[in-house]
Amino acid sequence: MAVMTEGLAAAVRGRVVERSDAGYDEARALYNAMIDKRPAAIAYCVDDQDVAAAVRFATERGLRIAVRSGGHNGGGLGCVDDGLVIDLSAMNRIEVEPGAQLARVQGGVLLARMLEATHVHGLTIPVGIIGTTGIGGLTLGGGIGHLTRTYGLTIDNLVTAKVVLADGSVVQCDTQRERDLFWALRGGGGNFGIVTEFTFRCHPATTALAGPVLHDLDDAADVLRWYRDFVGAQPDELGIWFGFVSVPPGPPFPEELHLRKTAALVLTQVGEEESPALREARAFGKPLLDGVGPLPLPVWNTAFDAVYPAGDQWYWRGDFVEELSDAAIDVHVEYAERMPTWKSTMHLYSIDGAASRVGNDETAWAYRDANWSQVVVGVDPDPANAAAITEWSKSYSDALKPYVMAGGYSNFAMDEPDRVRGMYGANYERLAQVKAHYDPENVFRVNQNIKPAE
Ligand SMILES: Cc1cc2nc3c(=O)[nH]c(=O)nc-3n(C[C@H](O)[C@H](O)[C@H](O)COP(=O)(O)OP(=O)(O)OC[C@H]3O[C@@H](n4cnc5c(N)ncnc54)[C@H](O)[C@@H]3O)c2cc1C
Repeated sequence: MAVMTEGLAAAVRGRVVERSDAGYDEARALYNAMIDKRPAAIAYCVDDQDVAAAVRFATERGLRIAVRSGGHNGGGLGCVDDGLVIDLSAMNRIEVEPGAQLARVQGGVLLARMLEATHVHGLTIPVGIIGTTGIGGLTLGGGIGHLTRTYGLTIDNLVTAKVVLADGSVVQCDTQRERDLFWALRGGGGNFGIVTEFTFRCHPATTALAGPVLHDLDDAADVLRWYRDFVGAQPDELGIWFGFVSVPPGPPFPEELHLRKTAALVLTQVGEEESPALREARAFGKPLLDGVGPLPLPVWNTAFDAVYPAGDQWYWRGDFVEELSDAAIDVHVEYAERMPTWKSTMHLYSIDGAASRVGNDETAWAYRDANWSQVVVGVDPDPANAAAITEWSKSYSDALKPYVMAGGYSNFAMDEPDRVRGMYGANYERLAQVKAHYDPENVFRVNQNIKPAE
């Protein structure tokens, strides 16, 4: 394999780590410790030209390429056996233009840093709920989080992207330039090129009333039914998702609740004045704990980071949901009672509101008519529990099959080639055409892969 990577260190300016180098195991490690891939080399590219040089180096030698931003992909698609990992973590510049309410963010930035950088200007961007996730994978897959109902998916706030294509050329795309590419990037994953810089529209927002309201698991069916009936009629300003969560065994949670399984409503509303919708959500039922309070958005958006550090075993399954039936709720409650470890969880994100006012074919993200994005996640630090968390996730999501839509969210998936068509739904054929134009040889195939149209 050393033969295949000979000359790589001279071809790119950033650091290169090969199999025989000290630090190789650290360099190849991914967030999900269940994935164990051994690339030929990892190149820490420093700019567009460096990324282009790495792409050319790999294509000339027939090496498969994996692109890594935050390394959070559940199925480990930020790494590849025997191929070249193009790691973007050294490309982590963020430039905020407060007057224009824009942020230019390089492809290797992690969410927490981006949120801090916009926060000092009184601005935010809707992203995922854990700060260590990479902006690259999160954005290209869609981007669901606390503020999805309020400001839409992350891609709905993308203004322009700079992309290194399969032939090593660099293009800028937006609604005027390379329009098909811009369409495809917004939900089509890393299939079309390597995005070295994203420009996002920001929203004036610094603080939110936010936190979980925890209910007894015995009340889970009532809470879920209430959530189902309540959310659709609420204004966009209410961010809300449902989760089965075990109370973390430490502060700030009261000791008597530690490790208790609960049915949680996770609430977010920008600003400090409580809206009627938020008040109503907090008033429902008899919560065990109401943790809602004013928080700076970067604090709220990293509040779960300590519970979910890198290095845990992780297996998940995601689906979209249009209608949440009573029968589906019964399945949820049954599997919540059997959550195998305290970090295992199920989230049901509301994706109506602002996200639902974009058409199914306006971006590559084909599930604007879904009301919820559901993810069942088995998590535990101990590899001995890998089988148990996998089995629980699979059987839970299998039991829900009759009640979900045909496809699933690409960012809440393992490496699942059989489900790829469903992930892109009715947009698959057009995506395959765009793929054929920009990457006819399928150079970028370590992802939820769209095959170039013939
Ligand atoms: C703890 C945790 C919490 C999460 N929370 C959320 C959430 O709240 N909302 C949500 O929507 N998702 C969430 N996710 C899912 C997350 O969006 C996906 O796992 C996503 O793939 C992670 O992106 P990454 O850049 O960190 O991953 P990576 O593994 O680095 O990359 C993932 C994929 O994207 C491609 N890619 C990455 N960057 C680029 C780029 N710049 N150009 C081209 N291709 C690129 C890679 O090739 C790979 O196929 C979460 C994941 C984890 C593990």
